[in-house]
Amino acid sequence: MLTIEDLSVNYGMIQAVQNVSLQVNQGEIVSLIGANGAGKSTILRTISGLIHPKEGSIQFLNQDITKTNPQAIVKMGISHVPEGRHVFKDLTVKENLEMGAFLRKDKENFEADYQTIYQRFPILKDRLKQDASTLSGGEQQMLAMGRALMAKPKLLLLDEPSMGLAPIFIKEIFKIIEAIKEQGTTVLLIEQNAKMALQVADRGYVLESGKLFLSGSGQDLLASDQVQKAYLGG
Ligand code: ATP
Repeated sequence: MLTIEDLSVNYGMIQAVQNVSLQVNQGEIVSLIGANGAGKSTILRTISGLIHPKEGSIQFLNQDITKTNPQAIVKMGISHVPEGRHVFKDLTVKENLEMGAFLRKDKENFEADYQTIYQRFPILKDRLKQDASTLSGGEQQMLAMGRALMAKPKLLLLDEPSMGLAPIFIKEIFKIIEAIKEQGTTVLLIEQNAKMALQVADRGYVLESGKLFLSGSGQDLLASDQVQKAYLGG
């Protein structure tokens, strides 16, 4: 579904990502883990077209999207939930969800999709008229995910969904990520919570200082000595 080849991304003189190649197949959860500053968010921002790479290519559903703009990329079926959620705080929960569907033309299907979102995130249904600013961090994360799902993505990019959340919300978020996969949306997840990210992943990649360091099935990476030592405190 998504093929990244030899991707290098710079911010001025900083080489944030160097020669990274990775693949996401339809129906998978793929987790990208790595320390602070390893280049994880940069890879997601490059896939979404928010920044353009210095070298390399990105193919989505057999089309080259390396230089495609963000709006066209959303229309092609990629939604991005950035780190820190970025919900529209002065809009209500319902208005935030509506924003997610902004680029869709099939208005007749919206109501059914809202109902699916409410089933997945019952807390949002109770808060539809409330400003997003009044939600807790975990609820804002759910709203950001619900908003991204209203775009009906084929591929969902999640940047640190567990960041700053209480353990009970973290468990909930990971359950929801698995449910999103079960309902047919492919997920590329980046996380510092390596253990949970690899537990839900079909496959994973480990990034260190902008370079790919290891890859394998979620289970193999969880069992790997290098991952245990560096990321799981083993
Ligand atoms: P974190 O988990 O801390 O967000 P990350 O793995 O997502 O880390 P990136 O945010 O992709 O890492 O950052 C990769 C490198 O690029 C870091 O050295 C970071 O300081 C640098 N960087 C990121 N954004 C910018 C920017 N807008 N301008 C300059 N340097 C940047």
